[in-house]
Amino acid sequence: MQRGQDDIRVAFIAGTSWSGSTLLEQALAQVDGCVSVGELYWLGNRDWPSMVCECGREFRSCQFWQSVLVEAFGSRSAPIRAEIGARSEGLFRHSILPTLARSRSPLHPAAAFAELGAMIEPLYRAVETMTGATTIVDASKCALWGLAVSRVDTIDLRVVHLVRDPEGFVASDGRSRELPYPPGAMREPRPASRSLLTWLLLNLEAEILTSRVADKVRVRYEDLTRAPASTARRVAGFAGLETDISQHFADNALIVRRTGHAVGGNPRRPRLGQTVIERPDAPVTPSHPGPGRSAHHPLASRLSRRYRRSAGITVAPRSSNP
Ligand SMILES: [Zn+2]
Repeated sequence: MQRGQDDIRVAFIAGTSWSGSTLLEQALAQVDGCVSVGELYWLGNRDWPSMVCECGREFRSCQFWQSVLVEAFGSRSAPIRAEIGARSEGLFRHSILPTLARSRSPLHPAAAFAELGAMIEPLYRAVETMTGATTIVDASKCALWGLAVSRVDTIDLRVVHLVRDPEGFVASDGRSRELPYPPGAMREPRPASRSLLTWLLLNLEAEILTSRVADKVRVRYEDLTRAPASTARRVAGFAGLETDISQHFADNALIVRRTGHAVGGNPRRPRLGQTVIERPDAPVTPSHPGPGRSAHHPLASRLSRRYRRSAGITVAPRSSNP
C-alpha cells in the first residue's frame, strides 16, 4: 500500500500482559519525535475519567487528554468516547459481539472493525497535532483493538508483536495484580489453565493482526530484558525513529528523562530516573497455590518453539495489505 504524506505513524504493541510492553513503550517515549499514549484501549472505558493519567491527575482533569478529546471530536467527545467504549468493550475478553452488534453492518466483521477504526483515528490525529510527534506508540496489547486500527487507510500501522515464553507468563499471571481502577483494587491470582488460555488467545489474535499488516516485528520478552538497549534500538528503527535510543539505557537500567500522559499500563511503570530491568531468568513466584501450574499445552508449546526460533527480531518483508 502506498503511504500518504499525511498518514499517521502508529507503532502498536500487541501481545500479552507481563511481557515488557510498559518498559518498551516508556523507552520509545524517550526518543525525540515519539510520544506514547499508553494503552489507548482504556480511553473508552466508562470509568476512564476517574482513572489516573501518567501525569498523576485523573483524566477528567488532565489538560492534555481533555484537549485531545476536544481536538478530535469537538463538542461530541462524550458520546463518541462512550460509543468507542461500547463497541470495544468485548475485545479484551476476546469477543467481537459488541463490535458487531453496534455496527451498521453487523454481519460483516471487516466493516464493523472499520467503523470502530474510523472513530479511533481522530484521537491519534489529535495527539499528533498537539505533540508534533512523528510516531505514536499505542501499547494497548489487545490485538483486536489493533485490528480496528488496521482498517484505517490513513494510519501507517507498524505492529510490534511482543511475546513471552508461556512458562514465564503463567508464573507472572499467577500473582495478585493491581487493577487500573478503582485505586488500590487488586485482581485475584489466576489459575494456570486460565493464564495459558489467555496466552494462547492473545498471541493468536496478534498473529491475525500481523497477517493483515505489511510492517510487523516479533520481539521476545526474553531478548528485550536480556539485551534491552540493542533490542529497543532495532524496534525504534522499525518504528521510524532515527535518534539513538541506547542513550536512554545504562547497563541493565532504563533512564527516564521525561514522562507524558500514558493511559493505563503497568502501575509499576518506569518513572523519572533509573529503573532496573529484571532479567528473564529472575525467579517469579506465583501466588496461586496448589496443582495445575503447568504451562504445557501442545499448541502453546508449538507456538513457543516457533517464537524461540525467530530469535531476536524478525521483520517480515514489506508486502501489500491484503
Ligand atoms: Zn495527563
